[in-house]
Amino acid sequence: MTAKSAAAAARATLYGYPRQGPNRELKKAIEGYWKGRVTADALRATAAGLRRANWRQLAAAGIDEVPTGDFSYYDHVLDTTVMVGAIPARHRDAVAADGLDGYFAMARGTRDVAPLEMTKWFDTNYHYLVPELDPDTVFTADSTKQVAELKEALALSLTARPVLVGPVTYLLLAKPAPGVPVDFDPLTLLDRLLPVYAEIVADLRAAGAEWVQLDEPALTQDRTPAELNAAARAYRDLGALTDRPKLLVASYFGRLGDALPVLAKAPVDGLALDFTEAAAANLDALAAVGGLPGKRLVAGVVNGRNIWVNDLEKSLSTLGTLLGLSDRVDVAASCSLLHVPLDSGAERDIEPQILRWLAFARQKTAEIATLAKGLSQGTGAITGELAANRTDLASRASSPVTHDPAVRARATAVTDADTRRSQPYTGRAAAQRAHLGLPLLPTTTIGSFPQTGELRTARADLRAGRIGTAGYEERIRAEIQEVISFQEKAGLDVLVHGEAERNDMVQYFAEQLTGYLATQHGWVQSYGTRYVRPPILAGDISRPEPMTVRWTAYAQSLTSRPVKGMLTGPVTMLAWSFVRDDQPLAETARQVALALRDEVNDLEASGTSVIQVDEPALRETLPLRVADRPAYLAWATEAFRLSTSGVRADTQIHTHMCYAEFGDIVQTIDDLDADVISLEAARSHMQVARELAAHGYPREAGPGVYDIHSPRVPSTVEAAALLRTGLKAIPAERLWVNPDCGLKTRGWPETRAALENLVAAARAVREEL
Ligand code: GLN
Ligand code: ZN
Repeated sequence: MTAKSAAAAARATLYGYPRQGPNRELKKAIEGYWKGRVTADALRATAAGLRRANWRQLAAAGIDEVPTGDFSYYDHVLDTTVMVGAIPARHRDAVAADGLDGYFAMARGTRDVAPLEMTKWFDTNYHYLVPELDPDTVFTADSTKQVAELKEALALSLTARPVLVGPVTYLLLAKPAPGVPVDFDPLTLLDRLLPVYAEIVADLRAAGAEWVQLDEPALTQDRTPAELNAAARAYRDLGALTDRPKLLVASYFGRLGDALPVLAKAPVDGLALDFTEAAAANLDALAAVGGLPGKRLVAGVVNGRNIWVNDLEKSLSTLGTLLGLSDRVDVAASCSLLHVPLDSGAERDIEPQILRWLAFARQKTAEIATLAKGLSQGTGAITGELAANRTDLASRASSPVTHDPAVRARATAVTDADTRRSQPYTGRAAAQRAHLGLPLLPTTTIGSFPQTGELRTARADLRAGRIGTAGYEERIRAEIQEVISFQEKAGLDVLVHGEAERNDMVQYFAEQLTGYLATQHGWVQSYGTRYVRPPILAGDISRPEPMTVRWTAYAQSLTSRPVKGMLTGPVTMLAWSFVRDDQPLAETARQVALALRDEVNDLEASGTSVIQVDEPALRETLPLRVADRPAYLAWATEAFRLSTSGVRADTQIHTHMCYAEFGDIVQTIDDLDADVISLEAARSHMQVARELAAHGYPREAGPGVYDIHSPRVPSTVEAAALLRTGLKAIPAERLWVNPDCGLKTRGWPETRAALENLVAAARAVREEL
């Protein structure tokens, strides 16, 4: 890097930071407030303290411009709904009476009022509350929160930049309010929303903001010409305001594509772009529009979604290229650091050598500061950091953890034949019918039974050393006995062992597979006060020994009915973990699939005739852009088939998925070639059964007849009615009877009653056949 690069000193900045605090103080304070143990003032004080501590830490780490307004008591999209006054009618009185309680009521609902719907934030595992808009929505500006948080940061004498969800993304994330025709397009409200944004950015300027950031991640998805026009109009109008701060329009989670020329032409003052996975596409597109003369470019070169140490030299080279395309280049993470854990330095159980490969929020902050320094002052100013980085990257690249020759050889040797069952479906179906001898409309469950407080206590006791492994396993066996005996009495046909031994359907397997890392403190916000600790796919994956066989075999020893073995599929294992960035996802998926294949085969060898491989995450992992989907679906399908194709024809492979809509992946469901699929369907009145039928789906299916999301017990009449609806689409020879999903979140009383009704419904409808 030459000294000319230093013309304008590059700044280090961020779009957002984990909210929870080092010991999840925010979660504890909010949940305490809900229970009445923490006052509103105490909660506010905790929150303000965490914000201050974060900003101070960022500044001390060399972040020149800190984000504000990214903090949230629950969700930043809900905060945006409050900011633009789009409170749904049913919540308005409560919000007017008490801002905080009304806010939580929108997030969580009350006895009388339903919350806003929650859904995934793009392709992350964070969930936001969906704005509900209608043709009469009147927006009003409420900049209180944004202004207050900006002032807090300014009071610490920091340079601060408020970060807002942009108006186009806000509308694109919204849905028609209940009762409004579904074809109502919230984007038609743009002209009404823009003046509100104008007022808010003016307030922020008056409060001392030089720059305001408007996040438009929705522009990294496929967009219609009309939507691109809306974006053009939005930033033409906001850019044309006279009394405004400088505007930085931020995009992340991928390439801008057709939206890039639109934003490049807009009269705004800066763009923030993702230069991690989307680096090449965004670089080309920037070059094609002739760069961003006169504009600030914030370069997201540090991946805000993975936990891997940055390749500083590669990032510097990207930044160097960008200097030729813009007058001012600043350094940032590709997106808010909300999606990564706080501090890898808190981990005690990870080998020191491996720990150095990891970068959580705190470490990423340091990387950004280092890169900004290198960009401004030349690489000579960061030689120590570069040398250490080279050492860490080399240690990762050459480690036996990341390169296990046996695993690699096996993955390379996979052939197409390994992904095919020994017989086509029709032959298998006949063999399975003979082998299993099930009645028409066989009944089963999805796997888990209630995870009682006792089970969680037993696990905590084991962790704390209060009980030994033998004592713990005895409790698990007792639970399995109870679950099996209940299912026999209730009259279910294919039983499960109940998954009592599993803390989580991904973590349980991750803990047993070589190449996976678990963290002690790697919490990431899933929604509201719910945090998850995704395991890390760090190295080549292998299975040192069987993971589930003894529990399934134990359950099978207690009954003469078939017990279904229960595994988490390769796609879901990847989707709910941090994945490797040093090899294609397809390769990681193949390694996981091979480990699972061994488990499937071992289950079969131990006498298991029915094996379910769950893939609830298959659809949510679909790439944001349609063009990227075929490649994903190809490896996802291959991985599932690889894990399930090693069994005999008379062994029945089940899979399970749970989401509201399947329309766009029916072909994929077909391609998985599972013998039976169970799906969520109760709330949509068996919609998926019709979709499968319309597609000509040839195999067996169990659209759920029991909505397990609520404690409500479906009556026999109700379950039977759903079954009859299912029968209109799927013939009795291929229809299964089961709940929508696992029962781990339910209590025993409602589980018992609901499953008894489900069996009664199946019997009643069998009589009618
Ligand atoms: N077998 C798992 C269970 O029953 C499936 C869970 C899921 O689909 N999320 O809990
Ligand atoms: Zn499910």
